[in-house]
Amino acid sequence: MKLIDGKLLAANLRQEIAEKTAALKAEKGIVPTLAVILVGEDPASVSYVTAKERACIEAGMNSKEIRLPADVPEDELVSLVSSLNADEAVDGILVQLPLPKGIDAKRVVDAISPEKDVDGFTPENAGRMLIGEECFLPCTPHGVIKLIEFAGMNLSGKHVVVIGRSNIVGKPLAVLLSRKETNATVTLCHTGTKDIAAFTRIADVVVVATGRPGTLTGDMLKEGAVVIDVGVNRVADPTAAKGYRLKGDADFDSCARVASAITPVPGGVGPLTITMLLWNTLESASRKAT
Ligand code: NAP
Repeated sequence: MKLIDGKLLAANLRQEIAEKTAALKAEKGIVPTLAVILVGEDPASVSYVTAKERACIEAGMNSKEIRLPADVPEDELVSLVSSLNADEAVDGILVQLPLPKGIDAKRVVDAISPEKDVDGFTPENAGRMLIGEECFLPCTPHGVIKLIEFAGMNLSGKHVVVIGRSNIVGKPLAVLLSRKETNATVTLCHTGTKDIAAFTRIADVVVVATGRPGTLTGDMLKEGAVVIDVGVNRVADPTAAKGYRLKGDADFDSCARVASAITPVPGGVGPLTITMLLWNTLESASRKAT
């Protein structure tokens, strides 16, 4: 069984991004800039935003972090997004989700200009992806495809089962996998699927993104399948320094006994999500140069 090293792939890609960023700066005087809006103090969101900021700086990009209190009025947030849309120095805008209760996240995200929507969450980018037009690909699904390729698998003609149909992971991933250039056959499972194991047992690749630890177990896999675990769950563990540890949605031990390759949690999909965000930010800044 091979462990798919997301940290290694991310490091390779980030090196490439850093080199292209340096070239853009040297040749055109452009430094890609990502604006990140964090509302409230949700600990997971704070750590994601900190990691994104660090990654930007390491890649030679500018990070413009805007922290707002949880009770910020929704209209103020939308105005802030509008002003960032108009700011020529900003190439990408990211609103860290989830937003506190009472704020309409869809209204805020939809206010982001599609040209700066480096998360690929706006309806325009989602629609463009669906019909195969140029767009910013959503970071986690894009990273999942990079990881499967990194594991040495050519997806063309393969059967991929995706468990979970959220708008940010499962659904866009199913679309990306089934595009002609990727050419996989996709089954999308969710809570309405009667017998998920009947599908996963005939899959070459299983991607699990449910937010429920233990959704996928080894007995649900075909011998030699590839498993990509998108889940990030904080599970209480009094022996851990932080009082919790991170677990994926797959039961790692039983899946690792049957799979030919599997992503760990942490160190699998997570580093790729941030990497593809840098990728999109560089892409946005590069468009400005042409
Ligand atoms: P989400 O919005 O809560 O969606 C979960 C999806 O899984 C839903 O479609 C739900 O089905 C389905 N589901 C839930 N329990 C299921 C079960 N027992 N069997 C089959 N389907 C089930 O979650 P998300 O935003 O996609 O995130 C999923 C996980 O990935 C979370 O752990 C999240 O933290 C993690 N994540 C990680 C990254 C990363 O960078 N590593 C990025 C994004 C998300 P219904 O639609 O029927 O309710």
